[in-house]
Order: sequence, then C-alpha cells, then structure tokens
Amino acid sequence: MKSILDSILLESAKYINDGSVACYIPELAKADKKELGICVITNEGKQFFSGDADKFFTMQSIIKPLILLLTLMDNGIDRVRYLVGVEATGKPFDTFNYSDQALNAEHINPMVNAGAIALCTLIKGENYDEKFQRLLELVRKVSCNPDLQVDERVYLSEKATGNKNRALAYMLKAYGLVNDNVEEILDCYFKACSIKVTAMDLAQIALVFANGGIELKTNKRLFDKKYSQYINAVLMTCGMYDGSGEFALNVGVPAKSGVGGGIMAVVPNRMGIGIYSPALDKKGNSIAGIKALEELSKNLELSIF
Ligand code: GLU
Repeated sequence: MKSILDSILLESAKYINDGSVACYIPELAKADKKELGICVITNEGKQFFSGDADKFFTMQSIIKPLILLLTLMDNGIDRVRYLVGVEATGKPFDTFNYSDQALNAEHINPMVNAGAIALCTLIKGENYDEKFQRLLELVRKVSCNPDLQVDERVYLSEKATGNKNRALAYMLKAYGLVNDNVEEILDCYFKACSIKVTAMDLAQIALVFANGGIELKTNKRLFDKKYSQYINAVLMTCGMYDGSGEFALNVGVPAKSGVGGGIMAVVPNRMGIGIYSPALDKKGNSIAGIKALEELSKNLELSIF
C-alpha cells in the first residue's frame, strides 16, 4: 500500500500547477501550493501515509458532516431534515438553490454554506460558545485527537471578510429559517471552519463514518449507524461541491472537500482516507487530491457502485 500511495502522489503532483490556493479568505492565500499528502487507515487498523500527511490545514467545509452529525445526535433526523433538505443544489457552495420567492429547507442541504450555517442553530448549548465547544469536542473524539485546536488567524480572517456568508445568514433569518443573532451563529460557523487538522486526522474521522459510527481501536460506538447512513448519503450526492456527480463516476465513494485543500473520503467497511493539497480547481476541490483519489479508487477498486 505504501508504494501505491508514493507513486500515486508522484503522478498527482503534476496537476498542482493547474490549480490555485483559495484567496477569498486572505489567510488561506498563504498556503504552500506544493504541499501534498495522503493517509489511509484500513479496517484492519493499519495506517499508511505518504508526503505531507502530518501538515496542518483548516477543515473548512469538511466540518460540515460533523456539524450535521452533532445536530442529528442532538435532535434526531426529523428535526434536522425539517430545517435543511438533502437535495444537491448543483451550484457553488456559497449559493442557495434559490429559484422561488420563498426560501425553504428544500433549497439548501447540509453541505452548502447556508445549510451548515442554519444547522449551527440546532447544536445544543446555552450559548454559541458552548455550542462550538461541544462541536470541537465531538471532532476531537471522532478523530481520536484530543489536541485539535482552532487556527485563530484563519478564524479572524474569515470573520473579517466573510460577507457572503453574512448575506446568506441574513437571508436565512429573513425567511425565518434561523432566529438567533446572526453574528453569533456565524462566529460558531467561522470557528468551526477554522479547526486545524492533518490528513491523518481526516482519515481517522472517515474511518468512523466508514464503520457506521464505531471507532475500531476501542471498538466503541460513538454514534448511531442511522446517522452515518444519513451523512454518507448526503456526502455522496453533495460532498464535493458541484463536482459531486463527476466524483461519483470517477471515484465512487462518499467524500467531503474543503477550500483549505483537504478531502476526507469514506470507503464503507474498508478504510478512511485523508488528503491534503491546497491547490484547488474552479469548483473548490483539491486538484491533486481528486487525481489521487481517482487513481487510488482504480487501483484498489474502491467504488461502491
Ligand atoms: N469557511 C468557508 C466558507 O464558508 C468554507 C468553504 C468551503 O470550504 O467550502 O466560505
């Protein structure tokens, strides 16, 4: 496996020059375009990695499945589904699927910004600090990494420049999908996007989603299987932005990408995969990361179809 990963990274690195790092959040523009790392953790408990698998980057949209998980655990499926739908928008991550005069659950899903921002209001907690703290604790638990922290610079950079997210949040409020103070909701969302992880952490999180909520090292159930089924289904159709259809064809597993350059891929009952490479394609997906996953999927026949 190690030699497969090494040769796949060598091949995928050629595509880095066709992409660019995210610039709309100034701190993200400082990422080193050349970094590329991959980590695979199998159901047998073996961990393999290659390249920059231990470099830190911010989760960005990869936090969305974890926000969804916590809201499902706190509220159950019906309540979550009532607020945020599950249909792919076919549009970039920062738009609504907004075609009528009224905005409702069917116009958003948990993997676009508007859906994730709305879901932050369903996290249980006395205030937004407590809601965020509970989310961070969940990410630490699922990643088996109690040391995960927020990247304060990225958080402040997002907070200072996130006016599109502000606009989305006020639209949600205008149509009654959220009622709380918009700046407080966004503060929780921006901090959540700014949690720092490595490709190794992502592989571990993916492994838990690949095993119906069971953490294999301790054989402990962290959450109900019906929640991983819900999340993996949404990842399959909406996880890779408006490139999810193409990804389903070429890779064929539930996955989530983020504009920090990470991809987390879930191979049910087989393995968790984490990738980091910050040069993105036009849709916001890591360009070398997608190539690496395409190759790995062909090599190991990972597609679930
Ligand atoms: N924090 C980012 C934003 O809301 C997340 C975007 C992403 O990774 O897709 O703009």
